[in-house]
Amino acid sequence: MLTDLTLAAAREGLRARRFSARELTEAHLAAIEALNPLLNAFITVTGEAALRQADAADAALAKGQGGPLAGIPLAIKDLYCTAGVRTTAGSRILEPFVPPYESTVTANLLRDGAVFLGKSNMDEFAMGSSNMTSAFGAVENPWKRAGDGSAALVPGGSSGGSAAAVAARLALGATGTDTGGSIRQPASFCGIAGIKPTYGRCSRWGVVAFASSLDHPGPFARTVEDCAILLGSMAGHDPKDSTSADRPVPDFAAACARGVKGLRIGVPREYRADGMPAEIEALWQQGLAWLRGAGAEIVDVSLPHTKYGLATYYIVAPAECSSNLARYDGVRFGLRVPGEDLDDLYERTRAAGFGAEVKRRIMIGTYVLSAGYFDAYYLKAQKVRALILKDFTDAFGRVDALLTPTTPSAAFAQGENMDDPVKMYLNDVFTVPADLAGVPALSVPAGLDAQGLPLGLQVIGRPFDEEGVFAVGAAIERAAGFVALPTLRAGG
Ligand code: GLN
Repeated sequence: MLTDLTLAAAREGLRARRFSARELTEAHLAAIEALNPLLNAFITVTGEAALRQADAADAALAKGQGGPLAGIPLAIKDLYCTAGVRTTAGSRILEPFVPPYESTVTANLLRDGAVFLGKSNMDEFAMGSSNMTSAFGAVENPWKRAGDGSAALVPGGSSGGSAAAVAARLALGATGTDTGGSIRQPASFCGIAGIKPTYGRCSRWGVVAFASSLDHPGPFARTVEDCAILLGSMAGHDPKDSTSADRPVPDFAAACARGVKGLRIGVPREYRADGMPAEIEALWQQGLAWLRGAGAEIVDVSLPHTKYGLATYYIVAPAECSSNLARYDGVRFGLRVPGEDLDDLYERTRAAGFGAEVKRRIMIGTYVLSAGYFDAYYLKAQKVRALILKDFTDAFGRVDALLTPTTPSAAFAQGENMDDPVKMYLNDVFTVPADLAGVPALSVPAGLDAQGLPLGLQVIGRPFDEEGVFAVGAAIERAAGFVALPTLRAGG
């Protein structure tokens, strides 16, 4: 089936004219029509525009032209502004918002010939780990527990729709954003690959802001190489984002074939979380054994401030969110609920437009930034954040990359972990440090747990060494020897 191809294979097939971009896009639109009612991975499907883009790609390919992604169908997280296409951020407050501009990352993908199938579902304003906070309903993970077809599992979050779409063969790849783990955790839960590149590698311009110093755009795909191909198109300097890095974009895909011979891989002892399932520990050991077998040297390292990662993140991220989300006031964007006077309009609009998790974050954020508590919380968190970065800098003086589990558990059921926000936040324990430090980190599918659910391993690299991260990730993928296919597609 055309939808089972890797992105790299689809690209080859298109160039050899074995099938057309229209056929490839139609196959994906048919899969969306069949499965999206069950999975709810897309908030908006843009079928007609996708077919127009596919026809344009076919015309270019017929002339031997066409960019590196000519005719490749993708899902776009509904946090990326897309010109003329509704962009909701998973929130009621932006339900009617149609941006007049295109984000830099999506513009780069279009420049390279990509086809956009639609906008994928997500936790509201990218706040969440389960996709349960979306104002457009939960997303279902296409994976099921072995022998239990009834429990609907979460795809992870916040980029849950993108991850579910790629895992279920509704798209060859997708964009996501990772502020505290929102690319790597859903990738792990859905058995696909996803990378959060170095902070500054991909422009944030036109991506609805959650926590600006932590937001990282990045790709999902079913293989490490496919992620590398997508990142090559998404990345690049953008004068419109003052934090965008002015660096050349290397050939990420070529790095996947490099191997790991002679590399030093660090094992951070602080990632051995209390109560972590034995099978996750076992998979981690397996991953290290694979890398050793491929010629790497394994070295124990310490990242002593890891234990403060979650607490630091859950101060910095809400602080920045409370400031970023102040702009949704009923005047400038999206929803407006009329009131008696201006203050009343603000209050009614924000009360009706934001969900519970977003309100919780805004309240935490305004609290930690308030005059009386700024030093005790926000300033302290910034200092600890600097120490977390220093941990990584010290470790990368001794090793080339780090290997850890991506998540402390496999996908959980819809409704689980909803009673206690702190329990939900624990999902991010292994992913937030790399966001706080801005270093690149990839999740690669590495195995299945006893219930047949996918588990990912995380490769963390030096700043701007995505090539090293891809090399290690691809070595694990080769050793694991499978491209994960959901055992049951949407319970079918
Ligand atoms: N789960 C984390 C949170 O809720 C991470 C979200 C993200 O990376 N966007 O904040």
